[in-house]
Amino acid sequence: MAGQPQDDCLFCKIVAGEVPATIVRETETTVAFQDINPQAPTHVLVIPRVHYPDAASLAAAAPEVAADVLREAGQVAAAHDTQSYRIVFNTGSGAGQTVFHAHAHVLAGRGLQWPPG
Ligand code: AMP
Ligand code: ZN
Repeated sequence: MAGQPQDDCLFCKIVAGEVPATIVRETETTVAFQDINPQAPTHVLVIPRVHYPDAASLAAAAPEVAADVLREAGQVAAAHDTQSYRIVFNTGSGAGQTVFHAHAHVLAGRGLQWPPG
């Protein structure tokens, strides 16, 4: 059920401490950890503790938690002393989403092309 931990979800397992991750920040509602395959010098994932498959469904069901994810993304960037960063929510396999638990990629530390690929 949406909002509940999913047995087959990698990020639910990271939230539960069942899969290790390099956690950089935690709040009551979110966890932020290093991406295992970084695409920039700073590449941190911010996830809600609750399970929703993508950012829009999280925002529809739990808007305050979606706001927490965005606030934490800003805090990750601030901790890396940068005002230039990108927050990415890949949504759908055609857009590169591989883990279907909502997550924000926070990318910084190099030039970020626009438009993205
Ligand atoms: P996406 O492709 O947008 O769904 O993003 C999923 C991200 O999760 C990718 O950037 C992966 O590198 C990252 N990832 C996959 N497994 C792990 C893991 N065990 N710990 C940290 N990051 C992971
Ligand atoms: Zn999950």
